[in-house]
Amino acid sequence: MNARSKNLLDGHEAAKKRMAESALRVERIRETGGERLALATIQVGHAKDTELYAASIGKLLAKAGIDHVPSVSPEKISQEELVAKIQAFNDDPLVTGILVFAPLPAHLHAASVLNAVDLLKDVEGRRVLNGNGRRVLSPTAEAVMALLEETGEDLTGKEAVVVGHSDIVGKPVAILLLDRYATVTVCHVKTRDLRAHVERADIVVAAAGKPNLIKGAWVKPGATVIDVGENWVAGKLCGDVEFEAARERAAFISPVPGGVGPVTNAMLVRNLLKLYDLRKEADGNL
Ligand code: NAD
Repeated sequence: MNARSKNLLDGHEAAKKRMAESALRVERIRETGGERLALATIQVGHAKDTELYAASIGKLLAKAGIDHVPSVSPEKISQEELVAKIQAFNDDPLVTGILVFAPLPAHLHAASVLNAVDLLKDVEGRRVLNGNGRRVLSPTAEAVMALLEETGEDLTGKEAVVVGHSDIVGKPVAILLLDRYATVTVCHVKTRDLRAHVERADIVVAAAGKPNLIKGAWVKPGATVIDVGENWVAGKLCGDVEFEAARERAAFISPVPGGVGPVTNAMLVRNLLKLYDLRKEADGNL
């Protein structure tokens, strides 16, 4: 570890560690007579980002020894046909989890499509299972927590500021931080004086999708900064945080690319294992 990398949270390393843990669990499930795990993916159309994501999920599952059941539908599929596909996966005992690639074409009602996914197969936690950790939340939110775990810092009583309040990142991150007894403030596009909130934060989670929204000078010395943002600027991927300036002040900071992104996929696999456990528990087999 050289001086430049001393405060860098390496997403690839964190992902590798968690993938190894998941692969080991998959192996153990198989050794003890459990069935194979399988993730069904639902893709509508051929958007480039979705194709890339689908390919990376396929590779990742193969690495973990998990089956991939891809379903690719034409762009113009009807709501009824799509929901029927989801129902078929809901009813298929060989399918452990279901992932619907977003965004869906505008003619489909996304919330109704996502709500068709069985709660116990909802690998992205789009439908929240309530209660005491017996639920699956967004893999991106879990990835934020995994990187915070990598710092080795106790979150109890820390001032955490989450910038962004979407269902897939901001809100579930806030829930997970609260579960760890951080004091959480959630900022969004209507927040007055974002700077004042960030300046007093021990933990900043940036998930607004706005390049350089969080200025380096706002970061409290010694704070931890997790950058979820993925923005393309002049053909380069960057986060929401003014990285170099923030890095001078932060105790820990995650880069973009190479931070939250790779861990998100690892947490998707972990969520699949959690769904497996929850189903076994529901069946009375665990
Ligand atoms: P979203 O558009 O659904 O939500 C954006 C949030 O940011 C909203 O709460 C909005 O109010 C807030 N916001 C926007 N402008 C703001 C401003 N000027 N000040 C304060 N708050 C502001 O986006 P999302 O789906 O939550 O994604 C957020 C970012 O995270 C995007 O860049 C996305 O690409 C990235 N992302 C990364 C991963 C990953 O795995 N790395 C996963 C999901 C999303």
